Amino acid sequence: MKDWNAAATALYDGGFRRMFIDGQWVEARSGEVIEARNPADGTLLATVPKGGAADIDAAVAAARKAFEGPWAKWTPFERQALLLRIADRFEAEWESLCLSDTLDMGMPIQRTLANSRRVLGMLRFYAGQAVAIHGATIPNSFPGEIYSQTVREPVGVVGAIIPWNAPIAGSIWKIAPAIATGCTVVLKPSEEASLTVLMIARIMQEAGLPDGVLNIVTGLGAEAGAALAEHPGVDKIVFTGSTATGQAIARAATGNLKRVSLELGGKSPVIVCRDADIEKAVPVAAMAVFANSGQICIAGSRLFVAREIHDEFVRRVAEYAAGLRIGHGISGDSDIGPIISARQAERIAGYLEAGPQEGAQVVTGGARATGPGLDGGHFFQPTVLGGVTDQMTVAREEIFGPVISALPFDDLDEVVARANETPYGLAAGVFSTHLGTAHKLAHRLKAGSVWVNMYHAIDPAVPFGGVKMSGYGREGGTEHMEEYLDTKAIWINAD
Ligand code: NAD
Repeated sequence: MKDWNAAATALYDGGFRRMFIDGQWVEARSGEVIEARNPADGTLLATVPKGGAADIDAAVAAARKAFEGPWAKWTPFERQALLLRIADRFEAEWESLCLSDTLDMGMPIQRTLANSRRVLGMLRFYAGQAVAIHGATIPNSFPGEIYSQTVREPVGVVGAIIPWNAPIAGSIWKIAPAIATGCTVVLKPSEEASLTVLMIARIMQEAGLPDGVLNIVTGLGAEAGAALAEHPGVDKIVFTGSTATGQAIARAATGNLKRVSLELGGKSPVIVCRDADIEKAVPVAAMAVFANSGQICIAGSRLFVAREIHDEFVRRVAEYAAGLRIGHGISGDSDIGPIISARQAERIAGYLEAGPQEGAQVVTGGARATGPGLDGGHFFQPTVLGGVTDQMTVAREEIFGPVISALPFDDLDEVVARANETPYGLAAGVFSTHLGTAHKLAHRLKAGSVWVNMYHAIDPAVPFGGVKMSGYGREGGTEHMEEYLDTKAIWINAD
């Protein structure tokens, strides 16, 4: 097993990092900084600028200048070539990117490394999309030689705001379609995990990204994030994060009626039918929540199991959970890393108290994880709660931690109604060996993605997003390009 410690020390030594505006590496105008600490042990990795409204102004001005400057003249084939160069650079620096992410936000290194197919695939997918943008010639009802056609144009300056739980994929999913379409970007990473996003900007600059096309302003949500969301110079906001913040962003965007797309939270159901292949379903249903310590928007945190197999299935998921190894992300053999911050850990601890208080039973876990190597971080035991009812807080609210709520069900109509009885609609899982049952459930569940006999599949070529309060707009697939494009109709009188 590789020893990542030396590489980790070489990567971050507690020093000062700058943010990226108009191709320059700059401090915040205020001179203030935010500490970036390793959530696994609390060590100071680096400080990053605490950008504010003035820095957002500068970044938006740079993005506008670039949008209206030589970048506008780049051909789709040049933008495609740039994305492919960036992909190659990512491939070459993949280990450093993953190590940075693991140090900054805690995900076990083997999991960050395993994301390469998806992230490199995104860059190459959007490279392909860059040269596929086109309008149409449309017949019209006018007499004479009047032609009508459409052209697709980049929407303009895009403000991107991302959370901390997947900085590499999260930022590439915002930046790559912008480059493909010819937009420019001001990206605000999460204050909890900015370091890898700065590394990404450095790689893109070295690959030939022109000044101002990508700008990164690090800072707090209430300051830099809010300033970006309400900025009159921004044409479109693409946001991933919590539903509450998404609502604030949608409100802030009304000032100049900028377009908005929102990828928000979830409380996703996983339905295990009585004809499910239990052997295969147990690890998938468990990792539907425990991956990234439950800090994933698509966490399948409501586990509905057919009553006939409920007790056995839940016991086996609990056994699986108890066997997961908890530890520092760079140890190389941890399945479950730390929780990002003390604040998030307090939230999770609150749910672990509320569950049993409202009548749930702890089948496994239920507490913080302590022991050798876990000092200084916030670790939780993977937890399975049984005896949960739909009304309990743990079954209704997004926990964003390693907690499964198990709920028995009796028939399909009932489970569909209960699974859909949530304000969210991000994802759902179905386990069944019966083709008809699987299809019925997949069609009736209200969610942006439904996985059958699998979970977590997200791909650059396939649209991903939510319905209801999980947001609107799609990332991935050709639909994603629409989010970054406007349509112009051109009329020509040839008479
Ligand atoms: P969050 O909403 O607290 O923060 C997300 C980002 O928004 C951060 O960069 C933050 O600084 C910024 N922000 C905060 N307040 C803001 C404001 N008033 N104006 C503008 N920006 C502001 O979310 P989080 O805690 O970082 O991430 C967890 C949440 O993200 C969960 O709810 C999770 O489900 C969701 N999420 C959704 C997806 C998805 O694709 N649907 C993916 C990952 C995470």
